[in-house]
Order: sequence, then C-alpha cells, then structure tokens
Amino acid sequence: MEKVIKDYLHKHGYGSWEPRAALFDMDGVLYDSMANHAKAWHDSMASYGIPMSVEEAYAFEGMRGFETIKIVAGRYWGREITDEESVEMYRVKSEHYAACPTAPMIPGVHRLQETMHELGLRIGVVTGSGQHSLLERILHDFAGLVSPDIMVTALNIKRGKPAPDPYLRGMEKAGTEPWQTIVVENAPLGVRAAVAAGCLTVAVNTGPLPDNVLADEGADIVVHTMDGVNEMLPALVCRDV
Ligand code: MG
Repeated sequence: MEKVIKDYLHKHGYGSWEPRAALFDMDGVLYDSMANHAKAWHDSMASYGIPMSVEEAYAFEGMRGFETIKIVAGRYWGREITDEESVEMYRVKSEHYAACPTAPMIPGVHRLQETMHELGLRIGVVTGSGQHSLLERILHDFAGLVSPDIMVTALNIKRGKPAPDPYLRGMEKAGTEPWQTIVVENAPLGVRAAVAAGCLTVAVNTGPLPDNVLADEGADIVVHTMDGVNEMLPALVCRDV
C-alpha cells in the first residue's frame, strides 16, 4: 500500500497524503443499480427507435443522462439534439428506471463506510444522477455515515463526469484538497473524472467491463469487492507516508 500511495503522490506532484474524506459514486458503488439502468437505457431509447446496447449503457455510466442522450441520439439521428428533446427523453428513461425493481445495496459498502467513519474520514456522495428519490434513499440507508452537506448531483454542476468538476465540487463541500481525498468509483468515466480532480482513486469493478479499462483510466487501486477495500483501508488511511 505504501507503494500505491507513493506512486499516487509522485504522479500528481503532491508532497504528502493526509486522508480526511471519502467521496462515493452512487450507481454500482452504493447500489447494485447498473443492470436496471442498462435495461432502462435500452428500452427507453428503443421506444424512440434508437438502438443502445447494454454494453454501451455501461460504457456511458457516470455521464449525466442528459448528455448521454445528446451523444447517442445525436449520433443515430445525425443532428444536434435540443435541450428540450434531451430533457424529455431523459424523463422517459427515468420512468423506465423507476419501473425496475429496487436495486439492493452493494454488499459490504455499509461496513466500509462504518470503517471509514471510525478512522475519522468524512463521507460524501458524488453522482451524475439527478433523481431525488434515490438521493433521499442514500440519506436514509447511510444515515450517520454520509454527510448530507457533501452530496453532489447532476443538479449541482454544469459539466458532469468525465470532467473533474463533480469531484472538485465534492472536495469543496468536504473542505478537503485532492491529497486528502479518497474516491470510490466503479465506472471508466467516473475514474477519469476522479483522477483528473487529483483524488486517490479506488476502482471497485462491480460490473461486466474488464479491470484494465479502469486501470487505463488511471485508477490507483482496482479491486472487485467492497470487502477488498475495507481490508486495505487501515493501510490506506495511514498518514505517515
Ligand atoms: Mg457508477
């Protein structure tokens, strides 16, 4: 772990590692919701005659739905998609998502946050989602762990992931610098955003994409389970490197 931290500091040109906060992505990190999203993407776009595969839905994960639609529909229809069209199509996608069964929590993520809390880290959530019901669910499911004042959603920022802006805003809310911040992500575009923001980025590969996709985006650590992160946490939160 010492090598991981040293490599991270060297890569960004930082002097010291002083972890104080952890920022969690939501879909595929807090909740096992990506299969629902992928189905909702496929079915809603099909209702407009646009083919969008499940794999494509995973590749776009992390980007705001509004922007994903502009790319996917724009490419298929060969023209620019207006804001109004995109908002309406995202509403339809959200309806499809809402009709899916409730996504369960990702195994081990609550325990991981408890360990972080015990180690003195503040905990926040940075998501490309703008669905209020989901955000309320987070505050209920992770009560006493996630700080309500460290929540960044699609509604709070102009540029979404893979731009660094959502994580920069998350750090602003947490009152931390990049060398004080751990990000837990699962998606390639989310990892790219967190790395661009300068955070130490832990990728938990909970989906179907190969590990190297996350490593190639610059993740400092790639594991497969939240328990895996939990096990390495004491060494990662060591402040003496
Ligand atoms: Mg995600």
